[in-house]
Amino acid sequence: MTDKEERIFLSSPHMSGNEQKYIQEAFDLNWIAPLGNNVDGLERELAEYNSINDAAVVTSGTAAIHLALRLLNVGKDDSVFVSSLTFVASANPILYQGATSVLIDSEMDTWNMSPLALERALKDANEKGKLPKAVIVVNLYGQSAQMDELMEICDRYGVPVIEDAAESLGSYYKGRKSGTFGKYGIFSFNGNKIITTSGGGALVSNDEEALKKARFLATQARDPAVHYQHSELGYNYRMSNIVAGIGRGQLEVLDERVRQRRAVFQRYEEAFEEIDGIEFQPELEDTMSNRWLTALTIDPAITGVSRDDIIDRLGEENIEARPVWKPMHLQPLFEGVEYYPQEDGNSVSDYLFEFGLCLPSGSNMSVVEQERVIALVLELLNK
Ligand SMILES: *Cc1c(COP(=O)(O)O)cnc(C)c1O
Repeated sequence: MTDKEERIFLSSPHMSGNEQKYIQEAFDLNWIAPLGNNVDGLERELAEYNSINDAAVVTSGTAAIHLALRLLNVGKDDSVFVSSLTFVASANPILYQGATSVLIDSEMDTWNMSPLALERALKDANEKGKLPKAVIVVNLYGQSAQMDELMEICDRYGVPVIEDAAESLGSYYKGRKSGTFGKYGIFSFNGNKIITTSGGGALVSNDEEALKKARFLATQARDPAVHYQHSELGYNYRMSNIVAGIGRGQLEVLDERVRQRRAVFQRYEEAFEEIDGIEFQPELEDTMSNRWLTALTIDPAITGVSRDDIIDRLGEENIEARPVWKPMHLQPLFEGVEYYPQEDGNSVSDYLFEFGLCLPSGSNMSVVEQERVIALVLELLNK
């Protein structure tokens, strides 16, 4: 195979080299079972990194969201509000609990939950005497949502926030780490995220008692008795000591990965920013996005080229590009579910899905590879 045929991925794992040291330690101590020094170490290091009291590491980001909903006692008569423009994993745990979801639109400044739409949805819910048990706010592609505005609204109605920071580990909002604003925050270490354990996630909070409970629920909810006794429904969600070893090696290079992803973004920006009809996902003032994925919109009425034209052309060259997430209110799984657009007749997430594109953004993509991607897009645009 020539270089030209080597696949360029949207986002692929990028090891530091230190992961194996931690895994070897686990082997040396025969600590292959779940729990152990790497699990404790990763939890401590992750909490420290994010300047938050505690972190519980689990098998996935989805499991972390599920645990957060359990800790907030979300049940089948309850509703939970969630960003519509996201990956399905943000919303699935609401269904696991048999609860009702209400989908909230995005705004253009961050592409994340619209404070306007949230305010309307909460006002309506309050008038019906049925406030949601939680609001799940997603930080898309590394960019924090408008947390001050969203937190103010939720605090006013007394509704706890779960921050889905699966994509925004290492990002900042007004000097504080993304994922630390709500009652709970969640991170993902899935294979495509900014750092990965091959599969894994974390639940973070300043409430250490709650995270103790989360660890209990994540290990089959076993009561303190020598015999196996259970009074509550639990799960097998704890991260293994081997997987946590990968996480420790990855966390060491997280800030470097953020710099690398931002450099990828900057090269795309320099190449395309002068082109009418192309708009990058904004970075809100006083925030720093990890730029997990470079995302932009392209208006075919101006450029003559559609998002799908670009995906197809790159695909022919064995390069992976994708549309922006398909909003939940357009998913068959959520058919008929209540949806609050930004304003009547103006759904921002519909617009972002129709015109939005994610370009290959891996921290291990070479400059030469990125220049190939850029050249193909420019060629298509006749630039
Ligand atoms: C990846 C992702 C998740 C789920 O994380 P997993 O570790 O894959 O379960 C949740 N929310 C968002 C926005 C994600 O991108």
